Amino acid sequence: MPRPAVTIDEQDLERALLRKSVGALSDGRHACTDCGRTPLVGETLYRFGAGSPVCELCRPLRRDEPLESERVRHSEYGNAVRVRRV
Ligand SMILES: [Zn+2]
Repeated sequence: MPRPAVTIDEQDLERALLRKSVGALSDGRHACTDCGRTPLVGETLYRFGAGSPVCELCRPLRRDEPLESERVRHSEYGNAVRVRRV
């Protein structure tokens, strides 16, 4: 007995593709542990143990000193062509 063909609506397909692409974009992005905001390029992220990053706006709310800080780079950082002068 043949299985019935699965049909998908065009709008359902668009929604599924949009969800997939948004999910792929947010996977590699930093987010503040306290407020959930995505920090801007050039902003500093602070780590207070357990590797959870905190943004510059939430940093004053913590009393401890951060273990380390990290500058937020553009997604293409390290992939750009650089001129080397010898
Ligand atoms: Zn924050």
